[in-house]
Amino acid sequence: MSESTPIAGVMYEEVNESNTTQTCSSCGEKPPSRPKGIAGLGIREWICSDCGTVHDRDVNAAKNILALGHERLAVGIPVLSQ
Ligand SMILES: [Zn+2]
Repeated sequence: MSESTPIAGVMYEEVNESNTTQTCSSCGEKPPSRPKGIAGLGIREWICSDCGTVHDRDVNAAKNILALGHERLAVGIPVLSQ
């Protein structure tokens, strides 16, 4: 599927999800307190040391992915084929 392929009247665009778990969805920074690397995979909740926002890892990542879609009607992350 190419980018921005209309499906059932909905615009769908794949976005790059890299860094979406490490970027604060509130201030847009990648603070020192973010979950990083292999050790960060087990961190479910973290506090942005820049703005103080408490993040659930997955909710924060979802907000960042949505923001990457800008003004699109719908966004998603690529499904990895086997
Ligand atoms: Zn922040």
